[in-house]
Amino acid sequence: MRSKALQILVTGGAGFVGSHLCERLLREGHRVVCLDNFSTGMVENVRAMPHAERFTVIDRDVCDPILMDLPKFDEIYNLACPASPPHYQADMVATMRTCSDGTRNVLDRAIRDGARVFHASTSEIYGDPEVHPQVEDYTGNVHTIGPRACYDEGKRYAESLVHAYAEQHGVDAKIARLFNTYGPRMRTDDGRLISNFVTQALTGADVTVYGDGTHTRSLCYVEDTVEGILRLMRSHVPADVPVNLGNPVEMRVIDIARAVLAATGSASAIVHRDLPVHDPMRRMPDIQRALALLGWKPTIGLQEGLNRTIAYFQGRICEEQTGGMA
Ligand code: NAD
Ligand code: UDP
Repeated sequence: MRSKALQILVTGGAGFVGSHLCERLLREGHRVVCLDNFSTGMVENVRAMPHAERFTVIDRDVCDPILMDLPKFDEIYNLACPASPPHYQADMVATMRTCSDGTRNVLDRAIRDGARVFHASTSEIYGDPEVHPQVEDYTGNVHTIGPRACYDEGKRYAESLVHAYAEQHGVDAKIARLFNTYGPRMRTDDGRLISNFVTQALTGADVTVYGDGTHTRSLCYVEDTVEGILRLMRSHVPADVPVNLGNPVEMRVIDIARAVLAATGSASAIVHRDLPVHDPMRRMPDIQRALALLGWKPTIGLQEGLNRTIAYFQGRICEEQTGGMA
């Protein structure tokens, strides 16, 4: 870990992963600016940060020029982008612009400041994979047209752009491909698997499994993801070596639903809904690269991660029901 206090920009810092990252950076003694347009982020996520005197929140779109009156940054973490399918599909053009114009703004700012860049890419760049588990050298199986294309292809373009800036302008950049991450500070209406299942189980609503539930995902607890992000950022790994960050424990979606019901003690029924178009059938990271280069692997198992997540959602649902919502 670096000893010097750094000036850091986190785009998307009011979102689920970004707010945990901001908190960790503040605890390490850094000065942090969170830039977020609050499209899916929440004020609640950044309201009670430790060391608030070193924390600034700016309500702004990353596609707009990044404010020139901000301090010179040592590090920029680019997380701005909706990550939940219903949210990134709600305004497909905005999602693509965030990945393209937003990432370009971040990289231009990095050139100006001489800042190191972390870019949050995704397992979605592998699409519906024909290679299992997914290794970083796999080039993917992605539709250019369809409901997921704005995110998948936007993120693929962003990776190429980050790499181009590294090659052409010498930007010191890192690319992590995050696999499904879960934990506290997801929205109750986020729409992703764990937030849906936990909210449904806690409110007595039906738990909605899309398709027959035999398709798979691998779930990583957010604290582990943030640890991996920081290890990558402080490493010498170059931009042309993207690193998978995820939990190599593959589970069927139906079994995840059952695990949530057991952990919440809920009597909710499991109901099946149509599988969304182009929904990937299998997803599990190969994390040999992260292990070899960063000494990183997940440490928090599903039971512990679910317990912490459920405790958060219990409080959040209560707040929303009593009117203390965002
Ligand atoms: P999230 O939706 O909770 O957070 C995204 C944040 O970005 C929100 O605060 C949102 O308001 C902000 N944002 C979106 N568009 C913006 C714009 N144009 N300008 C400024 N702010 C903008 O999602 P998350 O799960 O925290 O994901 C964070 C990042 O990690 C995303 O880039 C996502 O693609 C990536 N990622 C996440 C996962 C996961 O499972 N959580 C998996 C793969 C990749
Ligand atoms: N899913 C589900 N019920 C839900 C939400 C999601 O069965 O209420 C499924 C979804 O179809 C997908 C998996 O869970 O197969 C993960 O979905 P999520 O939206 O969390 O992430 P992604 O599809 O981007 O991996």
